[in-house]
Order: sequence, then C-alpha cells, then structure tokens
Amino acid sequence: MDETLIATINKLQDALSPLGGGSSSPVDLPQITVVGSQSSGKSSVLENIVGRDFLPRGTGIVTRRPLVLQLINRRANKPAQEDLISINKTTESGGQSENNADEWGEFLHLPGKKFFNFEEIRNEIVRETDAKTGKNLGISPIPINLRIYSPHVLTLTLVDLPGLTKVPVGDQPKDIERQIREMIMKFISKPNAIVLSVNAANTDLANSDGLKLAREVDPEGARTIGVLTKVDLMDEGTDVIDILAGRVIPLRFGYVPVINRGQKDIESKKTIREALKDESSFFENHPSYKAKAHYCGTPYLAKKLNGILLHHIKGTLPDIKMRIENSLKKYENELSLLGPEMSESPTSIALSMITNFTKDYNGILDGEAKELSSHELSGGARISFVFHEIFKNGITSLDPFDQIKDTDIRTIMHNTSGSAPSLFVGTQAFEVLVKQQIRRMEDPSIRCINLIFDELTRILNQILSSPQYSRYPALKEQLSQHFIQFLRDALVPTNKFVTDIIKSEETYVNTAHPDLLKGSQAMAIVEDKFHPKPQVAVDPKTGKPLPPSQQPQQSATPKEDENANGFFGGFFSSKNKKRLQSMEAPPPTLRATGAMTERETMETEVIKLLISSYYNIVKRTVTDLVPKAIMFKLIVFSKDDIQKVLIERLYNSKDLGELVKENEMTIQKRKECLKMVEVLKNASEIVSSV
Ligand code: GDP
Ligand code: MG
Repeated sequence: MDETLIATINKLQDALSPLGGGSSSPVDLPQITVVGSQSSGKSSVLENIVGRDFLPRGTGIVTRRPLVLQLINRRANKPAQEDLISINKTTESGGQSENNADEWGEFLHLPGKKFFNFEEIRNEIVRETDAKTGKNLGISPIPINLRIYSPHVLTLTLVDLPGLTKVPVGDQPKDIERQIREMIMKFISKPNAIVLSVNAANTDLANSDGLKLAREVDPEGARTIGVLTKVDLMDEGTDVIDILAGRVIPLRFGYVPVINRGQKDIESKKTIREALKDESSFFENHPSYKAKAHYCGTPYLAKKLNGILLHHIKGTLPDIKMRIENSLKKYENELSLLGPEMSESPTSIALSMITNFTKDYNGILDGEAKELSSHELSGGARISFVFHEIFKNGITSLDPFDQIKDTDIRTIMHNTSGSAPSLFVGTQAFEVLVKQQIRRMEDPSIRCINLIFDELTRILNQILSSPQYSRYPALKEQLSQHFIQFLRDALVPTNKFVTDIIKSEETYVNTAHPDLLKGSQAMAIVEDKFHPKPQVAVDPKTGKPLPPSQQPQQSATPKEDENANGFFGGFFSSKNKKRLQSMEAPPPTLRATGAMTERETMETEVIKLLISSYYNIVKRTVTDLVPKAIMFKLIVFSKDDIQKVLIERLYNSKDLGELVKENEMTIQKRKECLKMVEVLKNASEIVSSV
C-alpha cells in the first residue's frame, strides 16, 4: 500500500512533468531541503541518499547557490515492480562511479545536454556557481536546476543549500548571514518542504542554527528530521546516545547518526559503496551503537525519509486531488469557451457566428439574456428607460409659454384675422401658435432615435465582448461593421417616419379632438377667473334659492358684442381716432401694443387655455407614437432583418476565407489547454486510483 503511494507520486510527478513543475503546476510535490551550518555535511548526506558522487563537497563554503535536484525515476527495461526499489537498494547498487547509459543528468541552464559522467556534473555545478557568484566565495539565491534520470532513484526533489555562516570571508557581503538565512527560509517555509536538519555530531547541538530555523517554520516538528554527521570524528568516549534518546533537543521524528566520507576519503576517491560498508561496520562495532545499529547510518536515514515522505504524501493527497480537479475544471471550461479546432467551412463558421449573434441580440432585447445583471439595466430595459423616462420627460417638459408671450398672441390674433376680420379670430391664432409649438417636438424625437441607436450599438459591443467571438477577430470586426452600417441605413426611414408623425401633427390641428377643451368651457373658466360668480344665497331652512329680491346685489358686466367689434375694435381704439382721421401709413413694424382691454386679456387667456389643452393632447400622442415608430422602423426591423442582412453581406465578402482565420492567440491557447487537460486528466486518474 505504502509502496503504491510512492509509486503514485512518482507517476504523478511524471504525469505533471510536462508542465515544467514551476508555479503553473497545480501540485506542489514534497521537496527535501537540507539546512545546517557550513561544512556540517549537507551535500555529503544528499549525495549518499542519491547514491552517486556528483556534488561539490569540501571545507569552507562550497555550496554557494541553491541546487534544486530533481530525481526522476526512469524505468529501465525492467518489470514495473522494480520501480519501487527502496532507497536502501538504490544506494547499494548505485555506488559505482562508472558511466551508465540509463543514468544521466540535465541542467535547466543547458537544455538538451545530457551528462552521463557524474564527475562532469560536479564540474558543471562548480562552473555554474562561479558564473553567478563571482570568483571569491560570493553567494547567490538563483537556484541551479539539475535533473537526474535514473532507474535507481526515487522520484523526488532535493534541495541543497549553502550553510549558515556568521562571518563574511572573501568578497562576501557584510550581511551574508542574513542573505543566506533568507534564502534558506524561502525554501523551508513551503509547506511541502521536508526539512533535513544536518548537524555535525562533534559540535554542540544547542548552538545548531539548522535546528533553530527548522523550528521556526515547523514548530510541531511534523516535517523535520534530524541528521547527525561526523559521528566518526567524535572524541574517544563520547557519543550521541543522549541526543538519539531525545534527552537534548527532542524532535518528533528523531535523529539519525550517519558517517559520510571525510576529506581524506574524497581525495582518495573512496566510492560510496565502500563508504556505506565502512559506515555500517562502524555502527555495528561501536560499543555505544551496536545494540541499535539498525537505527543508524545512511540506509536507515533513507528509509526514514521515505516514511516521512509517505506520511507527508498521505497528508497532502486530498489537497493535491482537489487542486488537480479544480485545475482540470478550469482548463476544460476555458477549452469549451475557445471552441473546437477549426474543421468547418468558412461559410458554416460565419453562419454559426451570425446565428449566435442574432440569438444573443434578440435575447438581450427581449430581456432573456443569460447574464441578466441585478446591478444595472441591460438591453431591452435600457431601451424602455430611454422611451419612458428620457424621451417622455423631454417632451412633457416642453412649455409652450416659454416662447409664447401675451403680446404675441395679441399680434397673431390681429394678423390671423388678415384683411378680412374673421368672426372668431381666436381659432386661427390658436392654430398658428400651437403649430409652432408642435414643431418643437421634432428635436427631442430625433434625439430619442439617436439614443436608441447608441443603445443598439451598445448591445452589439456587449455581445461581441463575449469570449466566443474573439476566436475569429476579422469576422467579428466585419460583423460589427455591417451591423452598424445596417443600423445607419435603417436610421433614414426611421427619421423620416418620426418627423412625418410630428409633421402630420403640425399640419392638421384637430380642433374636434374629443379631449380638447371646448371654446365655451375655456371661456367659462376665464370668465369665472375674472368675474367670480357670487354664490347664490340659499334659504338655510329649505335649501332652496332665495327669491331675487333677497339675493345680494351684483354688478352687471356690460356684455360687449364680440362678433360685432372683433379685436380690431380694441387695437384701433377710440384713442387712435386722430390717426384714423389723418389716415397715416402703418409703421414698418406693426405690433399690437398698448394696454390690453379686459376683453383682449380674456381672449388671450382663452387662447392660452386652448393651446395648453391641445398641446397636452399632442404630447400624449407623440410620447406614444414616436417610441412605436422607433420600435417598428429600427428595433423590431433590426431584429427581423439583421440575420438575413448579415448573411448576405458576409457571404458576399470575397475574402470570407481570410475572415475566418483563427486568432493566433486562440490557437496557442487551445493547444496549451488541450495539453493541460490531457496532463491533468492523467494525473486525476492516477490520484483517484489510490
Ligand atoms: P556542507 O557544507 O554542509 O555541504 O558539507 P560538505 O558535505 O561539503 O562536507 C564538509 C566536509 O566535511 C567535507 O570535507 C566532508 O568530507 C566532511 N564530512 C562530511 N560528513 C562527514 C562525516 O560524517 N565524517 C567525516 N569524517 N567527514 C565528513
Ligand atoms: Mg554543501
């Protein structure tokens, strides 16, 4: 079961490796990171775990850049079960230093170059370290990435880091301690980091920086494992039994004592296999350790590491699962938005885009759009707002008496009577004045058409901003242009229709309109205003009017015969009698001037009342008819005809083939998504098999 788990992670990492393992990878697989003081033996421990000589080791600061070491288990021609080789076997069988055709290393900074010789790998690490850090012991946080492909390793990632130092040497900056500390923290604070805290057994554990750092990021000790190196260098009679027993600084996963090759062994090119043999005989024969020898040494460390790894994987697997599923969903969704790869003919692509567009357009106008927002009005609702708020207010706020002054009414009353004073001149004056005012409704009506035009292009842009249209940018552009042209063309008959409505209102004033105030009613109102009728006194007992003798006295208004005198009677009043007699020519601008007689004032009031009444009728008609006209000539017309027109125009473009070329980015994105989906599906299958 456990073995399967590791195998699963191996497979998972293989499956996800096309993603590059960078930040784009949905899964953070465990990394084993070494921390400890300088020269405590970190690189040596790692090398032993891998089972090959390839890391620069030695006294002083040797590791000066992080080395991210990805071990990739690569099946040789062996049955599948062999993949699950434990590290114990690995270290034993991988001890030889000779080249092996199925084991090699590759650096990220040297893509494609395979290193079969591990000595060369070491040289390349040294060379590349110097390249970025300067000659004189500088450090750099830029990692070196090395992958080792081998049938003898477990797929996992190890990170070798510079050791903690306190005092700068060579060209090292003054704050070298802080810099290294930060570099280490960056790696070990990741929750997927397993911290290998390396301490030389011949130094004081209480001063261990490695342990201190490990505790900062992992106070529970859930992912920290202690390693004691250089046990062979301890003074006679001293041992690490107290530490191992947890009596010094206890660690949940405890400590493993190991013996790596010393400086002398390195110089004499002692192989790892020999070193491991010597290590185990050391522990088996040492008086302090021989009772517990199988809990000591590199093979046990590897096994323990393996166990912690397993534990860690078990803990993170549900999370990994979830992340894989989420990423998978995300990419599948994106893929479906991008649409399938182009295999259809240009005409059918154009047809389906036009059909979708028409459907979306009608849907928005009818208020059936998929993404109806609750924050703002959209489509049809906005159009309704333009009609019933903006346009209606524009019309109702028109006040005829902004422009018509009483004197104008009088002048027109005189003028309209022309050379033959009419019997009731008021009618004509009323018509002339009201027609002028009706013409004022044309501007807001035209403006309303333009506002609707803007709303329709707004809907166009709203629809085209959806990702499905970005696939064929040229086709989309053409569709947009044709749509706007189509609307522009439709504006001409719409404008004509609407101005005709206003014109017909203007042409014929329907004085017989049932809602229009009757002349007699208007007169009664005015009469009432000027000469309020006294109340008829009523007998309080019977409720019947009192006889005339008992009514209060009322002043009788002298009833002038309006028909007989006409308004000219007022204009050429008796005061002008002298002029009449001298028969002077009329002045160049002839206006009705002078104080108005009471009857003139009343006539003016009557006309004003009639204008008001009729104007309100026209307002009602216009606010009702103009939206209907726009609906008919522009909106519904566009709904009904847009599909046909777009098909005609787009089909007839000579370069339809060019228009349906897919956006380069879309093609690229689809490729990426397809790859991601495939990889993640694979990963998902692997994970769900556990
Ligand atoms: P790092 O700086 O922590 O990576 O330490 P290295 O792995 O480079 O080792 C520093 C020096 O200590 C090297 O010369 C190693 O040979 C030596 N060394 C490491 N571990 C042991 C050990 O267990 N025993 C002995 N005798 N020497 C060791
Ligand atoms: Mg080192």
